[in-house]
Amino acid sequence: MSDLRQRQQQLQALLADCDAATKAVRSGQLSGLEQEHNDAIYATSSFVYASAEEAAARFGGEVDGNVYSRFTNPTVATFEKRMAALEGAERGVAASSGMAALTSIFLGHLQQGDHIVSSRSIFGSIIGLLDNVLAKFGISTTYVEPTDLNAWQQAIQPNTRMLFAESPSNPLAEIADIGSLSSLANKHNALLVIDNCFCSPALQNPLALGADIVMHSATKYIDGQGRCVGGIALGSEELMEPVFAFLRTAGTTMSPFNAWIFINGLETLQLRMQAHCAAALKVAEWLQAQPKVEQVFYAGLPSHPQHDLAKRQQHGFGGVLSFTVKGHRDAAWRLVNHTQLMSITGNFGDAKTTITHPATTTHGKMTPEARAQVGISDNLLRVSVGLEAVEDILTDLEKGLKAV
Ligand SMILES: *Cc1c(COP(=O)(O)O)cnc(C)c1O
Repeated sequence: MSDLRQRQQQLQALLADCDAATKAVRSGQLSGLEQEHNDAIYATSSFVYASAEEAAARFGGEVDGNVYSRFTNPTVATFEKRMAALEGAERGVAASSGMAALTSIFLGHLQQGDHIVSSRSIFGSIIGLLDNVLAKFGISTTYVEPTDLNAWQQAIQPNTRMLFAESPSNPLAEIADIGSLSSLANKHNALLVIDNCFCSPALQNPLALGADIVMHSATKYIDGQGRCVGGIALGSEELMEPVFAFLRTAGTTMSPFNAWIFINGLETLQLRMQAHCAAALKVAEWLQAQPKVEQVFYAGLPSHPQHDLAKRQQHGFGGVLSFTVKGHRDAAWRLVNHTQLMSITGNFGDAKTTITHPATTTHGKMTPEARAQVGISDNLLRVSVGLEAVEDILTDLEKGLKAV
């Protein structure tokens, strides 16, 4: 048994020099007696001790170890370590959802009177969190065009503590210049937080580009098969401590069952992302050649305004693209309704190709004016290109386009 412990420890040390593909499969495996099974699920709410002394030492924090699964759990810890290895972070703090990870970042680091400058092209629920929740507690937000560095600069106030952006953005694939935003944040003593959902750690590592904190909705590519909801915040030990302190108190904790799904999802992340990227580029190129398609939004196309920036800061262009069809909402809906293979849903990052009409689903809560401002028109469709044969995906899109 002790040989197994030694072997596991050697393996974890070895991984520092390994490729990301190897880290995705191996990092964070538990060392010690508990690891007789490969990545076992710790379905336990609390932990037991050998003596009153040990219990007191664990509860008092003098000895490291688990106390209660709202705080820490070995399966969740494996997920956190594996993600930290992939993002080049000192520490990861897993949360019950992407939104819970963000809530923990915001409320762990900000207080009444603070100000956030945020890209306006962010996930809809995050706008709700900033405008309807944080605003109630005296934390205000100014929204800017993600690609306009000047606008970011001008929006900074003396009380600005955080810059927030999603890159590439959903659904229009706008690319924020993470390195430049990091310099701006540093200059003003603010933290740069990057939502890395669309790339996953396989395609972009914001911390290496200068971001302070990176967050993921594990629900998307990290799971990869649309099974459960989860999230994670990653960064330095120092910046993660307040996030963890909020999370363990507020209870925005990840379930060990979900952590186990994500650990397994990560093992195929690198392979899946390569396949998603290759297929999405083919779909984007094909769409661009269709007379009924007005415009294609995908950073992998040389025609994309931030193609070069995306090439510099990402290792791939991702699996999600958007396009506008000629006509109005009816034309877009007809296309959706005449597909047969793709799933009609709001999710992305699944092995199954999904198609979404953002204006009436994921972005339906925005006012038409707000949608117009961020470029989400009624004839816009988003496709998350899955792992089916790309020829079959194109055939399905062709059926849809014929009906436009
Ligand atoms: C899904 C998503 C979130 C929120 O994650 P949940 O797991 O749904 O809470 C945040 N940002 C982006 C870009 C997302 O796609």
